[in-house]
Amino acid sequence: MLASQTDCSNSPFLWKLWIYTNYDCNLRCSYCVAKSSPNAPRRALGMANVKRLVDEAAALGFSEIFFTGGEPFILNDIYEMLDYSSHRVATTVLTNAMVLRGTRLDRLTRIVNDNLLIQVSLDGATPEDHDAYRGRGSWEKAIEGIKLLQERDVRFKLSTTETPENSPHMSQICEFHRSLGIPDEDHFVRPLAKRGYSKQGLELDMTNLIPEVTVNVDGVFWHPLSTDRDMQISRSIFPLSDSVQKIQEQLQTIAQTGSSALTTFT
Ligand code: SF4
Repeated sequence: MLASQTDCSNSPFLWKLWIYTNYDCNLRCSYCVAKSSPNAPRRALGMANVKRLVDEAAALGFSEIFFTGGEPFILNDIYEMLDYSSHRVATTVLTNAMVLRGTRLDRLTRIVNDNLLIQVSLDGATPEDHDAYRGRGSWEKAIEGIKLLQERDVRFKLSTTETPENSPHMSQICEFHRSLGIPDEDHFVRPLAKRGYSKQGLELDMTNLIPEVTVNVDGVFWHPLSTDRDMQISRSIFPLSDSVQKIQEQLQTIAQTGSSALTTFT
């Protein structure tokens, strides 16, 4: 554990680390806050950086690490990253579940453990609700992916982004996931945010968002909701403790001015 001013256990906020592994994606969702797509250039963080991040996060007392893409499972080294991370800190990886087939599914199955959770995006009980923002045919492939995960006994949760399209049908989504044998505690809903490609939703920034330390190839950011310049804490990833300290100082300033209420968003 590092010195107390950079020890995350002193703060109720700094306990999640998000790692943007790549940015390219098999989908092009119209609400994607990361502006990911098949055409987005790969901005890979790489195994050496991920290992160092996991080690530093564990030493600082982070209790959870999240891996997000684009789509992380199009990376060849994502399994090694998840294996390394989940043997040190509780680890979650976000996926659209559409590419988890064949060799990829086999490789994931080999590294599953109680400390590794898969978070699958599902926005509807029907293709209409899900595909409205995520593209035609994506619901069907996501459901196939979910069933394959169930067949392999891989632990996962469902994440739904509430949109104008699916908002009237939230109870149907819950009935649907229960019909698949997925309990309520393994499903959560989050609102749409106006960032990246999204033209609708909540407007959130460093002044009203509880920080969740986020790293990509360009540096450290306040929150995974956006890696735009206005959310950047540092251009240097390492040492992670420097960015943790900057965030803690900014939180103290916010608390002293009492200027705004912070909200969670993940
Ligand atoms: S929201 Fe997720 S699945 Fe959709 S384009 Fe962005 S990273 Fe890919």
